[in-house]
Amino acid sequence: MAHVESAHLVELALSNATPTDADAEALRHIEHCTHCRDELAMLTRLVTAARTAETVDLPTPPPEDVWLRITQEVSRETGTPPPPHHPWHDDEPG
Ligand SMILES: [Zn+2]
Repeated sequence: MAHVESAHLVELALSNATPTDADAEALRHIEHCTHCRDELAMLTRLVTAARTAETVDLPTPPPEDVWLRITQEVSRETGTPPPPHHPWHDDEPG
């Protein structure tokens, strides 16, 4: 079985949708796939960071479109503006 798509993992990390058959299938795959489990864990941390505006400590930043997808969804569900930047870029000069 193919790995779960990143976009689908983002949906699962946000976990604000009613589970579908596709979700159940994806979760079954994730149970047995370290790669997808690690990615879902990373995305869950990003969702938490977006919801709490806390700095996340990741070895590598996620793709910007993934971060934007998460912040847009969190912004929509909380009615607050999304974080203005990647929270792990706070070591920039200035
Ligand atoms: Zn996988």
